Amino acid sequence: MLFIVTAEWGGKKPPSSYYNKLRKLGIDALFNRIIRVKSLSLAMEIAAMIQGNGGDALVIPAHALLPVLRHRVEPLETVFTGTGRWVVTCYECVKSYAYSGQTPRQCPVCGGLAFHCRPGYKRPVAATAGTTMFDQWVQTRFVTGYFEIPDRVSYTQNLIPVPEIPPEWRDAVDEIREFGITSFTSLRQLDAALSLLMYPPLLYALGNDLLKSSKLLAGEEE
Ligand SMILES: [Zn+2]
Repeated sequence: MLFIVTAEWGGKKPPSSYYNKLRKLGIDALFNRIIRVKSLSLAMEIAAMIQGNGGDALVIPAHALLPVLRHRVEPLETVFTGTGRWVVTCYECVKSYAYSGQTPRQCPVCGGLAFHCRPGYKRPVAATAGTTMFDQWVQTRFVTGYFEIPDRVSYTQNLIPVPEIPPEWRDAVDEIREFGITSFTSLRQLDAALSLLMYPPLLYALGNDLLKSSKLLAGEEE
């Protein structure tokens, strides 16, 4: 098995003692802060040494990285180009952002590539009071023909039509429905679940359990 140790000193250079100790352990760090070793105990020793030298360390089994490396996100925005106003929806932030400028190539907040965008402005949304959470979620997330996360939802007694799920998100929404929508306890958790299904490496990285990972991503950890 292969393990990866990452080392970080808050954006600063590693101290020279770090390189000396690595050499003592018989390791040449090809990249300063990413070390590959074949033993977990060695990886743990290196991580402890990094922490002992004032850094932050993380040990990751290399196989856990493979799906991340393989998965390529194709942002839907490829059909749009130009300068103007955009709504960027990021699966890693689980948020939709208003953005102005050139066609975004990355999420304007986290820099991630797992996002989509459309030209235009964010739109206020409303849900019918008293309907199920799932219906309210669909009513407020797909009104623009894209999956978007509103800043807030206003509730009304009027019957808001339930929009059709756009094809890009249909499989993921079906999966959430089949998984058991009642397991999710907030609109934000449903947003997170959909985001994870749209960007599976993140689901894998968070533990591959849709419900638990959704709570984590939504910031609603138990
Ligand atoms: Zn983001």
